[in-house]
Amino acid sequence: MSTVLSDIAAQPAPSSSVRAFIGKKPRLLINGEWVEARSGKTLAVFDPATGSEIARVAEAGVEDVDRAVAAARAAFESGPWPEMLPAAREALLWRLADLIEQHAAEFAEIESLDNGKTRFMASIVDVPGARNYFRYMAGWATKIEGTTMQTSIGGVPGAKFHTYVAREPVGVVAQIVPWNFPLAMAAWKLAPALAVGCTCILKPAEQTPLSALRLGELIREAGIPPGVVNILTGLGETTGAALVAHPGIDKIAFTGSTEVGKLISKSAADTVKRVSLELGGKSPVIVLPDADVNGVVGGAANAIFFNSGQVCTAGSRLYVHRTIFDRVVEGLSAAAGEIRLGPGLDQATQMGPLVSKEQQERVLGYIESGRKQGAAVLTGGEAPSHPGYFVKPTIMVNVRPEMRVVREEIFGPVLVAQRFDQLDEVVKAANDSPYGLGASIWTNNLSAAHRLIPRIKAGTVWVNCHNMVDPNMPFGGFKQSGVGREHGRVAIDMYTELKSVCMLV
Ligand code: NAP
Ligand code: MG
Repeated sequence: MSTVLSDIAAQPAPSSSVRAFIGKKPRLLINGEWVEARSGKTLAVFDPATGSEIARVAEAGVEDVDRAVAAARAAFESGPWPEMLPAAREALLWRLADLIEQHAAEFAEIESLDNGKTRFMASIVDVPGARNYFRYMAGWATKIEGTTMQTSIGGVPGAKFHTYVAREPVGVVAQIVPWNFPLAMAAWKLAPALAVGCTCILKPAEQTPLSALRLGELIREAGIPPGVVNILTGLGETTGAALVAHPGIDKIAFTGSTEVGKLISKSAADTVKRVSLELGGKSPVIVLPDADVNGVVGGAANAIFFNSGQVCTAGSRLYVHRTIFDRVVEGLSAAAGEIRLGPGLDQATQMGPLVSKEQQERVLGYIESGRKQGAAVLTGGEAPSHPGYFVKPTIMVNVRPEMRVVREEIFGPVLVAQRFDQLDEVVKAANDSPYGLGASIWTNNLSAAHRLIPRIKAGTVWVNCHNMVDPNMPFGGFKQSGVGREHGRVAIDMYTELKSVCMLV
């Protein structure tokens, strides 16, 4: 069953409250005030389901970056935030989470319009995920602790020392996020930084700035003090680069492409900023011969097609044992062909468009490169003839390890499927990648699973599931998939400095 023009519904009109929000004047959140960009420049925001402009946002320039850094610095050095009782910071983060919950339907609609994902998915994944993330991290505000230690410092006869390590907030943090989960990525960045007492400057992706701006309104409403969170919409090469180079910033937290992550690392080195990076992936899905074929088909389809494949941990390389390869791939092809493409606000839609024309062209370009290098497209492989940035769910076979479609992150609904015979062979193939973000293993053979897990070079290994994340489960990559881990206690570590104190008593 292939998608034809008439299958793609028209985008329903957004609600009046969302129309009112996206019709507001373009502005930046600096020092608790909504202000225009100094240059007066603005950027267009498009609905990916139609390709039409739906809003304009401010384009922050270098002067605006300076203003935001000054505000965040003042809020950190002399404002109430780092000095506030941890329980008071916790309460404010909970209040923000409650406000997200109160406006959940509106957020789901904004996220759908801006990114293209379905309102339904935004309402069960992105919005509650962001809310829960603020709640989880709010709890850490009151649990920061240090250690005391014994020392063997000699040379001072009779001297005793009291020695301990304290944790302090790292300072002013710039947080640069991508377009695939705009609200959730903003939460992943802001919540731990705020919990420990840092002040922040958030730069959302140019394609998806809207939910961050709505969040900014709620941050003010919650009563988080001025300057603690500043939000700069703008371009990566200008606004983002200016933040990364700015001497007034102590730490950069980035999620996005490996290419930009490398640029950020290099630029931040000049001022020795702390840098944490969540980058790309090309995550393998490994199916052992005993696996339940029906379960694998559903699981592998979700692993690659969730969020139209625009997920850093998307299960984009499928390795199936030769004995069940044909059955798995046939099942997946059938499942892919039945996915209903459409605009995110339409209730019948199962998969929305990609985020932008650029991303659509990029993904179609990858499919074309696979064809040229000899891969076969089993299903999908094209855009439906319809406005909007749609790409049909695509499965490619007859691929070889050196092909670009196997090696590079496509970030779209494109799966490449390969056979294997031996476990050693699939371990080698799975690890034959510059990336190491996620991986999943599908089997009921406990012993085989436990033997494989330590051999897979990935920050997360799922067994009989994929793409499951939790605020308490460290998330990040091996190799070129990143530096550092988000979530859990390690996220708190990432936004704090250790201070050793040694006192002669
Ligand atoms: P990207 O360029 O890495 O964008 C991520 C964020 O970084 C955006 O806010 C971006 O701003 C900003 N940025 C870009 N260049 C910068 C610079 N020189 N200095 C500071 N900040 C900068 O990703 P993209 O262009 O949106 O997508 C390109 C590819 O990256 C995708 O096709 C996909 O393969 C990969 N990607 C991966 C993830 C992930 O989670 N691993 C997420 C998104 C994309 P602008 O929005 O203005 O560019
Ligand atoms: Mg970019």
